[in-house]
Amino acid sequence: MSDLIAAVATPPGTGGVGILRLSGPGAAQAAARVFRPKGTRALPDAPDRQLLYGTLLDQAGQALDTGLAFVSRAPHSYTGEETAELQCHGSPMVLSLVLDALFAAGARQARAGEFTQRAFLNGKLDLTQAEAVIDLIEAETPAAARQAAGQLTGALSRRIDAIYSGLTDVMAHFCAVLDYPDEDLDPFQTQQLQEALQAQEEALTALLRTSRRGRLLSQGLTCVLLGRPNAGKSSLLNALAGYERAIVTPIPGTTRDTVEATVTLEGYLFRLVDTAGLRDSDDPIEQLGVARSRQALDQADLILLVCDGTQELGEEDTALLDQALDQADTLLVMNKSDLPGYGCPMFRAENTAHTLSVVGLSAKTGLGLEFLEAELVRRAQALLPQAGQRASELLLTNQRQTDAVRRAAESVARAGQALEQGVTPDALLTDVEQAMAALGELTGRTVREDITSRIFQRFCVGK
Ligand code: GDP
Ligand code: ZN
Repeated sequence: MSDLIAAVATPPGTGGVGILRLSGPGAAQAAARVFRPKGTRALPDAPDRQLLYGTLLDQAGQALDTGLAFVSRAPHSYTGEETAELQCHGSPMVLSLVLDALFAAGARQARAGEFTQRAFLNGKLDLTQAEAVIDLIEAETPAAARQAAGQLTGALSRRIDAIYSGLTDVMAHFCAVLDYPDEDLDPFQTQQLQEALQAQEEALTALLRTSRRGRLLSQGLTCVLLGRPNAGKSSLLNALAGYERAIVTPIPGTTRDTVEATVTLEGYLFRLVDTAGLRDSDDPIEQLGVARSRQALDQADLILLVCDGTQELGEEDTALLDQALDQADTLLVMNKSDLPGYGCPMFRAENTAHTLSVVGLSAKTGLGLEFLEAELVRRAQALLPQAGQRASELLLTNQRQTDAVRRAAESVARAGQALEQGVTPDALLTDVEQAMAALGELTGRTVREDITSRIFQRFCVGK
């Protein structure tokens, strides 16, 4: 049994409007304690989602503000429970006093995400849709918002459900065979099952292929700034971010940990990571920074190798370049173009064999920064063609989804191989079951109940 929860739904701080939300048994009654309608109709008697105008009251019944309120009864609400919403002016003080009054009326403070959690538990949305709610709220680009909106309609869930359903059919076949252990699968059946498994495996791998695009769209491109101490990495991060995110000092090794900033350029989101450098060090704090830098490098979609254009390129630069090229798409930034003696020193011949784009600029004066920005946008366009132009795509947008789909794909592949090698159906069953469990985890449905009811429907009439 769920209890009555309440929370301020609008962000902290002042605003034009503030909204309080209630969900659970007695929501309308509790809301009525803090809201006196102007008309004769009391809040609990109002039809679903009909706005009433009235006065908001504090715990002592004193008028605080005028506003609007409505109730929505189960199951026709966001959470699937009885809910009420109160609108007042966006005053943190009014909101806090009304919230206190709601607590006095029997509600408790809702935990983070609890409304959506209840919506999930009541079957109003599944886990991928719940994730879409968060993605939509946190979207930093138009493309990411559109993507989340598509997932919120259940597009991903429907695709997963179709695969799940295909696997349920395979499962049902196996179960039928298991009931007659003396009989082998006939070749025709084996062939059919093989094809059914292959179809689902292909559907899953096709989904898996979308995960990079999904990640890039929702989380942005990770751009790691790499370079020798004092090359100007932190200055460049600040210049791109447009504010002083990282500390800049003339003392080498100032940035001991990774520093991050996000920027949006022409609708593309970039997550800039300033690294501490990758030098071996005895200083434990610096070692930690180096470990973080390595980690950042592993996740890099793009590496900006920052070099001081007034200095000869040394072994350290070459080593960093090798490391960068091994890891990801790399862009060479020749910094400090404002200084006398600036040139574009070249790397060893074997490295110039790579087609490296070189951008010359001054992180200090900002001269040439627009060329780097244009190059970043070009790289983003190459990685994310047509982002924002398509209404919404079916993409895996986070690690949880990708992991679940990968596990499902692996299990289905194992089942297919086992079938080919003539393994007994019960061994196969485990693999298919695992695949379904992984997909069940993804959408949050319960596995067992589903399988059983489907199997009974198909095979067990009169048995
Ligand atoms: P990091 O160690 O690579 O992060 O380098 P910083 O950004 O901390 O910069 C090191 C020093 O170089 C600081 O004194 C900066 O002011 C200076 N610096 C960075 N970029 C430029 C530039 O484009 N022009 C000039 N003149 N100085 C720069
Ligand atoms: Zn730095």
